[in-house]
Amino acid sequence: MKNESAYNNTSTGRNDSYCFNLVPIDVPKIDTKYRKIVTPIPPENSISILNELKKYEPESMGLELPVVWEKAENFQVFDKNGNCWIDFSSGTFVVNAGHRHPKICNAISETVNNNYLHNYYFPSKIRANLVKKLYDMTNSNLDKVFLLTTGAEATECSLKLARINGRKTNPNKIGIVSFLGAMHGKTLGALMVGGKTKEKHWIENHDPDMYHLPFPNNSSDSKTFENDMKNLENNGTDLSTIAAFMVESYQGWGALFYPLDYIKALRKWADEHDAIVIFDEIQSGFGRTGKLFAYEHYDVEADLVCCGKGISSGLPLSAVLGRKELIDVDPSLNSTHGGNPVCCAATLASLQVLEDENLINESARKGLILEKELIDIVNQFPDRIKISGKGLVFAIHITKSGKNEYDVEVVDRIIEKAMQKGVLLIRTGTGTIKIGPPLTILDDALLEGISVIAESIVECFS
Ligand code: PLP
Repeated sequence: MKNESAYNNTSTGRNDSYCFNLVPIDVPKIDTKYRKIVTPIPPENSISILNELKKYEPESMGLELPVVWEKAENFQVFDKNGNCWIDFSSGTFVVNAGHRHPKICNAISETVNNNYLHNYYFPSKIRANLVKKLYDMTNSNLDKVFLLTTGAEATECSLKLARINGRKTNPNKIGIVSFLGAMHGKTLGALMVGGKTKEKHWIENHDPDMYHLPFPNNSSDSKTFENDMKNLENNGTDLSTIAAFMVESYQGWGALFYPLDYIKALRKWADEHDAIVIFDEIQSGFGRTGKLFAYEHYDVEADLVCCGKGISSGLPLSAVLGRKELIDVDPSLNSTHGGNPVCCAATLASLQVLEDENLINESARKGLILEKELIDIVNQFPDRIKISGKGLVFAIHITKSGKNEYDVEVVDRIIEKAMQKGVLLIRTGTGTIKIGPPLTILDDALLEGISVIAESIVECFS
């Protein structure tokens, strides 16, 4: 798709104004191979749980669809009333190998039952096995691995490494260039380097050495990149102080990829100016786009890669992969829970499942099925719908009828309708329906889920 005009929604951030219905209502009963809806939605007995969460948690924690999970298995989510959804969220791009894969559960149980829950960063066999496995899988110039817990920690860590490295040649070489609309996490540094301006309203002292380029559109190329850098220079930035580019391999909210020539030009510029390129693969890594890492689509090398989410298919583990001289530039790297043995066991098992079940290639193959079905939806509503994505991540971009403006509310209504029909989606709050099932989803379940989305769109448009 063209990432143009209304479709370039990048600097805004979320815009949630619609409230999901929290009163049980009768909906048509569903009973198919993969979906069951047998109660009013939300079910009566989930209301007290939703109310308790609302009372004791931040309001923002109540933004997702009101499905109270009792169990999740492979690509399905169950509540305790007999309702069952096809999961198109992967718990926000985490369970790439499916929910509760038996091999992952066994690895966790074995570690819990026979070893320990925690060993700080004292040496352990399981951690040694995992970092070696990550090294072996990446098969590139990334020869060291630093394990952490959350995605934001990984991006923060990569910023620090980039700056320490830059300062080796010039004390002012600490500039970081990233993109409007990008998501790199919610801690202070990650938020500042990210490009969601709405979420930064409370930050008084913005880091003056972080710069945001506009997210390129489909007609952007190497010239666009060169012009963007020229503009940065014309605005007073000394380009010799740029230490790194931080690139979210596809922009999350819209599954938007960069034009190839643009990234190639960025890589070339970095090489010529002694800057490094960090790819944030926290959402896009481990097969999601049909390759191990999404940046492989651009046919360039990375200096640092931030990993999280789908690396483990469930337990919290993140990692920074990088060249030895970049990782070892900071003698202080360690973290209390980084490389937790139970998380390492889960991650190792999940990586093995990716290989054993050929899930990276499967993601590419299933992505073609998904894309074909989505194109049919676009063809029904070409003036309101566009799509973008690769492998098993796609976004359906929906604009208001006759207007060049995202329709955030109709998207919320569509995902609510899909929930009532047995398909679970995340809420982006930006006017996109984000599709990201586990890579293990069966072809017929994938088709069934998309047909529910198509049905829900038709019902909400009329
Ligand atoms: N980077 C990207 C691209 C993400 O999608 C996310 C989370 O959504 C993060 C970083 C932050 O990860 P975490 O929520 O684990 O801190």
